Amino acid sequence: MEKLIITLACTGNVPTKELNKTTPITPEEIVADLKECCELGVSIAHLHARDEDQQPTHSRDQYKAILDEIKNQKLNVITQLSTGARGGENTAESRGQMLDLDCEMGSLATGSSNFPTSVNANSPQLVEALVKKMYTNQIKPEIEAFDLAMISNAKRMLKKGKLKGPLHFNLVMGVPGSIEGSCRNLMFMVESLPENSTWSVCGIGPTQIPMITMGILLGGHIRTGLEDTLHYTKGVAATNKMLVERVVRLAKELGREIATPDEARKILGL
Ligand code: MG
Repeated sequence: MEKLIITLACTGNVPTKELNKTTPITPEEIVADLKECCELGVSIAHLHARDEDQQPTHSRDQYKAILDEIKNQKLNVITQLSTGARGGENTAESRGQMLDLDCEMGSLATGSSNFPTSVNANSPQLVEALVKKMYTNQIKPEIEAFDLAMISNAKRMLKKGKLKGPLHFNLVMGVPGSIEGSCRNLMFMVESLPENSTWSVCGIGPTQIPMITMGILLGGHIRTGLEDTLHYTKGVAATNKMLVERVVRLAKELGREIATPDEARKILGL
């Protein structure tokens, strides 16, 4: 089986110091967590930027500060910038403002769904504008599929030449308001992917362990981090390091070797 690519989603849009005191917010904090987790086996950094009040922001300057700090620390990691819906104005201009920075990947939701208290709104026009800017700047999209319809739409965009294969997906399982994180649903999502795709999976909250274990067993890749779960187990606060250590242990037990960032680049065709 192919080596396992581990993505760290260390900050996300929702975690704050109040919800989990170890949440990395500033570029220095983010890169410190990242560095520690890269030593354990992380090869992709899924990055979200925050403003001085810990609020999510699409700010190009904030993203640049994180990328600069990664360079300062000489960290070899695949940088993946989030273009998610919760960092300010919901326009392609705002959400894609960081896509001319020196990064390797960008997140791209190919449809709309619900978050627990808001809409994950991604209109066809917005999705196309974001992907166009990614391709102009040689950034590979990671398609965030919160539901089956987003896979269907990616296939449609592939057929129309608006997306270029082979595609890479992250299957986002268990967001309250989107697809439930069950093993059956994950199998269905994986079986629905276009041929030759690569994929990873993340399990939100209590679905973290089963979804990650399934991802390792099925030959996919996995994402973990405080963005996906604030708790290690019920009542126990997680840290990014604890979450990555658990993935590494699971992978070892289940016989999957872990990919280095350069091996991950080859697997993903970067
Ligand atoms: Mg994200």
